[in-house]
Amino acid sequence: SGSTVKEVAEALGVSAPEVIKKLMELGELATLTQTLSDEAIEVLADALGKRVEVIGAAEDETAEPEVEDDSEQLEPRPPVVTVMGHVDHGKTSLLDAIRKTDVAAREAGGITQHIGAYQVTVDGHRVTFIDTPGHEAFTALRARGAQVTDIAVIVVAADDGVMPQTLEAIDHARAAGVPIIVAVNKIDRENADPQRVRAELAAKNLTPVEWGGDTEFVDVSAKTGQGLDQLLETIVTLAELSELRANPNAPASGTVIESRLDTGRGPVATLLVQRGTLRLGDPIVAGTQAGRVRAMTDYRGERLKEAGPGTPVEVLGFDGVPEAGDRFRVVESEREARRLAQERAQRLKQEALARQMRRRVSLEDVLARAERGERQLNLIVKADVTGSLEAIVDEIAKLPQDEVTVNVIREGVGGITESDVMLAAASDAVIIGFNVRPVGGAAAAAQREGVEIRTYSVIYQVAEDLKAAMEGLLEPEQ
Ligand code: GDP
Repeated sequence: SGSTVKEVAEALGVSAPEVIKKLMELGELATLTQTLSDEAIEVLADALGKRVEVIGAAEDETAEPEVEDDSEQLEPRPPVVTVMGHVDHGKTSLLDAIRKTDVAAREAGGITQHIGAYQVTVDGHRVTFIDTPGHEAFTALRARGAQVTDIAVIVVAADDGVMPQTLEAIDHARAAGVPIIVAVNKIDRENADPQRVRAELAAKNLTPVEWGGDTEFVDVSAKTGQGLDQLLETIVTLAELSELRANPNAPASGTVIESRLDTGRGPVATLLVQRGTLRLGDPIVAGTQAGRVRAMTDYRGERLKEAGPGTPVEVLGFDGVPEAGDRFRVVESEREARRLAQERAQRLKQEALARQMRRRVSLEDVLARAERGERQLNLIVKADVTGSLEAIVDEIAKLPQDEVTVNVIREGVGGITESDVMLAAASDAVIIGFNVRPVGGAAAAAQREGVEIRTYSVIYQVAEDLKAAMEGLLEPEQ
């Protein structure tokens, strides 16, 4: 691991300019002294028609150590809730209305701060809400490997019904394995039809509990406040069923929810503590940034000395601005934090290179992945018309699935969007387009995230290719 272009050229028995030229063809401008990751070296060797075996790959020291807490160390923690749904269905209004139900915040002076997440107390149970509504934020966090959400509240306006982004939000929650509660909003409106929303969603396999299914639907109005208590109680009940627990007696770790550079205060980051307790003065590393917790405040602007699992806090003291979605953890010293941050930066550079050179998941390596134990192939299928979409999904269902099971995580009519690509990146999926192409920033996003997009204009070819992929016989598309 960590060989330079020059060393790699020597090892492969080709000239350095040849290596640099090949790297350029693969979309990377490299210098002689640039370090290449093991993965990049393998891709390069492959492109040069050579075989390499990288031995003794260095361990990623910056990766979080895996810890398994003893069950007696675990204590209940607040659930973390994300609100998603179609534009204008009332996500922001609902988050604001819920925030206002918090008596404690009102008594503390009433001025709540927007730090990216807040908490309310329901019958003595705390609930944490992520304050950035929408599945873009949710998926961006997931695409970077962070899973913070325990419960997704999908908001559907009762006067508008299920819309395209409603379905997208459901896909995202399902792909993440996060349970869904449906908030049927705007029931104060005259033309509200909450039963229609239930019927539309039942058709998408979200059957209301009152109809014998297992999805909780709650009628609410963000405007009048009607139903909010019931929504919060439903969240608490679902959280209790999930038995969410964490160890508070450990060095803190968690996820960066939001961050920015404040002109007066320097880098400011909102951290969600997921394990352990974060304390003032703790040396900390988040992604490629290091520092020490100099000040810590909650969503009410109150100064804290410590914060346990499930708590969002705004932290000052980073050398630079960490990115939303970065994992953070407390380490022994600031010096150690700096070292890990630097190493992480180096690693990210190499990974970005490797990712541009090789796709995360591609149909060609489905079998190789299966041999490594990853036996699920996730697909997103987009087509020009419903008829062909259904035909393709039917064909896929008919494929023999002994080695690899195929799972269509999203199907839809229309061009391949950036949202499709982000879902694919977050779920390691391949995108199949039938008579449709990437639109907007989708092609660029796919390149950046290393997502494979395959486009077709003959239905049987899709099934053919999938079958070939599963048998390990597929040729790369070019
Ligand atoms: P978002 O795009 O999902 O965040 O939606 P907003 O929260 O911005 O709400 C969109 C519009 O719907 C705004 O004009 C809100 O005032 C309105 N709205 C939101 N919730 C309700 C509600 O419960 N009742 C009524 N009548 N209007 C609502």
